[in-house]
Amino acid sequence: MMVIILNQQVTDAQKKHVLDTVLEAGATPYPAGPTTVVVPGNHAALTEKLASMPSVVQVVPIKSPYPLASREFHPEDTVIDIRGHIIGGQTPTIMAGPCSVESVEGIVEIAQAVKRLGGHLLRGGAFKPRSSPYSFQGHGEEGLKMMAIAREKTGLPIISEVMEPDKVALVAEYVDILQIGARNMQNYPLLREAGKSMKPVMLKRGLSGTVEEWLMSAEYILAQGNPNVILCERGIRTYEKATRNTMDLNAVPVVKHLSHLPIVVDPSHGVGKAAFVRPMARAGIAAGAHGVIVEIHPNPAKALSDADQTIDFAEFGQMVREVNLISDALSGSEKDHVLMHV
Ligand code: PEP
Ligand code: MN
Repeated sequence: MMVIILNQQVTDAQKKHVLDTVLEAGATPYPAGPTTVVVPGNHAALTEKLASMPSVVQVVPIKSPYPLASREFHPEDTVIDIRGHIIGGQTPTIMAGPCSVESVEGIVEIAQAVKRLGGHLLRGGAFKPRSSPYSFQGHGEEGLKMMAIAREKTGLPIISEVMEPDKVALVAEYVDILQIGARNMQNYPLLREAGKSMKPVMLKRGLSGTVEEWLMSAEYILAQGNPNVILCERGIRTYEKATRNTMDLNAVPVVKHLSHLPIVVDPSHGVGKAAFVRPMARAGIAAGAHGVIVEIHPNPAKALSDADQTIDFAEFGQMVREVNLISDALSGSEKDHVLMHV
């Protein structure tokens, strides 16, 4: 595999010449944005030929099956700026909100609590993937409008799920980050559309997705030229029935070693029980996650979806304090430096 980096001033004619050269060598070029071309396979002679072209800055050989997502290609951490809030830096990002947006008053009240208690982004489901067709399916576009009002009132950026390729443009009009849910981690047409939208995307790990499959899915988004992908570990399905899912903490350092993309944890879905959300949020940060996303509600028992795993405002406030304490305790440690040289 190789990635060809073209210079910023590349002309259409020069780019066509590069693509034709790849094709003539019997290889297939995949343009990923204006100045990046991925070429699968091993083509030593081609590498030399391309490297001598004036429009080519560099030809990077890559062993990883997900070149653009790999640290091999991009050694530095990716940081993503969401309306001035940085995801992937030293400060942990805290996203919180209800599983489903219920009403405009409700979401505004929750957004105000998220802000007051130290959160950075508001989450909320409008298009909901429910296991039962008879469960509340979310308010759809109306729900997104309610979230936009909450953003206006608090200044918090918003994140919400998109389930269908045809709805990407609509959801992208409202949100600051598109969420791709666990059940859609391998919905390739959806990943492609999310990539084309150029909106930041938070890609949740599938219920039975391996780390490699998850990073390959991220690659689909990156391959469209969209560099703004955030990974979210939300628990995987194991034989263990004491919790809804098993939050795979291993994935945090493993993904940080393999990829430059930011990774957050979702202990709400990861454990599925409110009492265990806060300890697992702490654990995620201790493992090196760049942030947490949790479900909160003023009256969790009344939440229209995922009531069992939803925490109240007091518990959320305590979680934020603890997450920040752990992050501060680790600041200045060289954990990431060591990771990159495993
Ligand atoms: C959610 O965030 O409410 C959700 C449905 O998550 P997941 O896709 O991880 O199940
Ligand atoms: Mn949920």
